[in-house]
Amino acid sequence: MRVTAYAAPAAGQPLTKTTIERRDVGANDVLIDIQYAGICHSDIHTVNGDWGPQPFPVVPGHEIVGVVSEVGSDVTRHQVGDRVGVGCMVNSCGECVNCRNGDEQYCVDGMVGTYAVTDRDGTTTQGGYSTHVVVDADYVLSVPDGLDPAAAAPLLCAGITTYAPLRHWNAGPGKKVAVVGLGGLGHMAVKIAHALGAEVTVLSQSLKKQEDGLRLGADDYFATSDPDTFEQLAGRFDLIVNTVSASIDISAYLGLLAVDGTLVNVGAPADPLPVQAMSLISGRRSFAGSMIGGIALTQEMLDFCAEHGLGAEVEVIAADQVNEAYERVLASDVRYRFVIDTSTID
Ligand code: NAP
Ligand code: ZN
Repeated sequence: MRVTAYAAPAAGQPLTKTTIERRDVGANDVLIDIQYAGICHSDIHTVNGDWGPQPFPVVPGHEIVGVVSEVGSDVTRHQVGDRVGVGCMVNSCGECVNCRNGDEQYCVDGMVGTYAVTDRDGTTTQGGYSTHVVVDADYVLSVPDGLDPAAAAPLLCAGITTYAPLRHWNAGPGKKVAVVGLGGLGHMAVKIAHALGAEVTVLSQSLKKQEDGLRLGADDYFATSDPDTFEQLAGRFDLIVNTVSASIDISAYLGLLAVDGTLVNVGAPADPLPVQAMSLISGRRSFAGSMIGGIALTQEMLDFCAEHGLGAEVEVIAADQVNEAYERVLASDVRYRFVIDTSTID
């Protein structure tokens, strides 16, 4: 079927309205009428070629919420009328050690990303800035009734990308967690770490968003533009989650970790992040990374957010405002996630 979408025609070009082909609904597929699609900084990195050449035209969007409108004959986990979500991953081999461990995002064969990737049937995936999408039912999440659908969309990437490392490194009562960067991922990291019971500190470029940070659940808030911050907080944190989309002085942040502390990078800047060995050695510290999260963990995260009344702080926009939203994200002028109302696409 032909559906309407917003696509980047070439690297760095503004997105424009177009039509794309979606495959027929296969035996294990669901057809989703998309309602909302979040704008992740990864969409912008991809479109701008920060991560290398892409198969343009690219329809971005991997924070998708909608309603099931058709299911294939073998589908049992979703029904027509269900509210569902799709995140960054729409397929994987399902058989390798990582898939079997519920870490499909680390599939040995390579997970199939929601857009700009060759799917297992040879076609190129296209994302959620669109009216409809067809996805294998095993990669479709149930969105609990208690969640507002627009506020739930960013959970499919920003939510799971922060929930996964917070859980993996045991953020909880008695743990001091710092979140670097208060954007889309950062604001969800603050909410989730607070809900998990950790003591949360925001490290932002300035104090401009301090009031918001404290309202979202942070206990403390510091400006990284102030050199005193790095002296005052030296050796303080058990876990630092770095969500910054640009290259920062990682060694300076490693100095804020306690002995045995971990700095986990979820930000994926185009440029390398150089590390001074001494900043790791001098406190048996770890510098780690984490990519989204597996399907079962994503469902757990959605259920956790529903239980704790957590959604993203969103600014809902019409599809023709997408290029302006990209500029604002690049200028760190987002509070805290733009979400496209996809009913404005047609
Ligand atoms: P975002 O909304 O733009 O947030 C990034 C925040 O980083 C900004 O709001 C800003 O916060 C801070 N920042 C930006 N430029 C900076 C600079 N030059 N120096 C210091 N701080 C700066 O982006 P996002 O959607 O949260 O995504 C963040 C990063 O995570 C991106 O690189 C994205 O590709 C990546 N990502 C990774 C995964 C994964 O699986 N690992 C998943 C999704 C996204 P303050 O103004 O508060 O400092
Ligand atoms: Zn994302």
